[in-house]
Amino acid sequence: MAENAIVVCTWSAGRDGLPEGAEEILHIGRGLAGTLEKDLNWLILGPLPEAASALAGNYGVAHLQHVEDAKLDPAGSDACVEAIAAYWAEHDPGTLIVHQTGEARVVAPRLAGRLGKAVVMNGISIEAVGNNYQITASAYGGDTRVIYEVGAGSVLSFIANAAVPEPGSGEPVAAEPLAFDLSAVEERIKVVERANFDGPRLDDAEIIVSGGRGLGSADNYKLIEELAAALGGLPGASRPIVDDGWVDSSRQVGLTGRITRPNLYIAVGISGASQHMAGCSAAGTIVAINRDADAAIFQYARYGIQGDALEILPELVRAAGAR
Ligand SMILES: Cc1cc2nc3c(=O)[nH]c(=O)nc-3n(C[C@H](O)[C@H](O)[C@H](O)COP(=O)(O)OP(=O)(O)OC[C@H]3O[C@@H](n4cnc5c(N)ncnc54)[C@H](O)[C@@H]3O)c2cc1C
Repeated sequence: MAENAIVVCTWSAGRDGLPEGAEEILHIGRGLAGTLEKDLNWLILGPLPEAASALAGNYGVAHLQHVEDAKLDPAGSDACVEAIAAYWAEHDPGTLIVHQTGEARVVAPRLAGRLGKAVVMNGISIEAVGNNYQITASAYGGDTRVIYEVGAGSVLSFIANAAVPEPGSGEPVAAEPLAFDLSAVEERIKVVERANFDGPRLDDAEIIVSGGRGLGSADNYKLIEELAAALGGLPGASRPIVDDGWVDSSRQVGLTGRITRPNLYIAVGISGASQHMAGCSAAGTIVAINRDADAAIFQYARYGIQGDALEILPELVRAAGAR
């Protein structure tokens, strides 16, 4: 039983890779469970990733609980809410932690509403204070940090914020199958078209070169792609150029895009709005190229080049290629 546990919950469509954000929330969950001297359990909805048992061992998971059901492959939000609510009724977890994927943004508030529990979204860090939790979260589109205090028995959703340290090693944990009746679930949200996430993911990239509105036109984005390729990295983008259709939404970095933490992040023609920085401020080194010396991005950057991106980028591509 899980009454005395911190439960992290993930769901994922793929069998091979790990669910998005699993390590982040296992790291947060382990810290909390350690402080409160509780078990850390990992609830996986849908196909069980091959690497889950080993990862669970490394994070000191006490119980790896797994719900396999056709309605969870791929996992629709209605099926997730139903499965977690059924789990809650049976196991009454002290606290449920999810990683703030697009799906989690839909599932967590609905689950909390269904259960009559508190929910905190956009969480960044958490501290146990007496019987409550204080959660620092991003608010107002990333402009502000707020601290919420909620009781145990809440649904908490965290965005990736910092590099996750190596977890150490432990014995693999065998998955415990759980089953709930999801037969009556009808998905009310139909996926018309999935974003194209083929190929390497920004989330895993060591080097990202991102372009913004300062590039001036969609054609100029090829300079970003060339520099990213020359450096062995991936191209990223700010939201306006995604909204304008210059690049696919899978390239968007930021609060409503991908949360990345590369070693090197090069921001080109990007102003440095807080919503963009939410997706790259955990980078090891930020380099900014902007023609406006007062652009906010220079406050975050370790190295800055003030000037016209369209003149600087070809030089950088040449220099990177020469190396
Ligand atoms: C709820 C919410 C969520 C959001 N989520 C995201 C998100 O996930 N990701 C995101 O990126 N944004 C997001 N935004 C939008 C965000 O607030 C900014 O509007 C956006 O990041 C600005 O994009 P930008 O820097 O490309 O464009 P701009 O703000 O227009 O900046 C362009 C920059 O380019 C510079 N420039 C212009 N010409 C040149 C040149 N020739 N050479 C060099 N520099 C030049 C300018 O000086 C300027 O600094 C969100 C907003 C809201 C309200």
